[in-house]
Amino acid sequence: MEIERSMCMWCGACVGTCNRNAVTLYETRIEFEDNCNDCGVCIKVCPVGALSLSE
Ligand code: SF4
Ligand code: SF4
Repeated sequence: MEIERSMCMWCGACVGTCNRNAVTLYETRIEFEDNCNDCGVCIKVCPVGALSLSE
């Protein structure tokens, strides 16, 4: 997963939607864990379109 950090507003929506607990929100940082399977669900809930699949 890729995150456009300048767009993210730390709302936490992506964290709550991941059923693999693969996204963690730190104070001003989002991290994706290795168990992310690129399902894309979090991309759809991000209100600012900050997430995308890695190339
Ligand atoms: S792509 Fe899917 S598995 Fe990966 S962080 Fe987003 S919701 Fe979780
Ligand atoms: S849903 Fe989008 S704006 Fe909200 S924390 Fe996740 S990446 Fe950032």
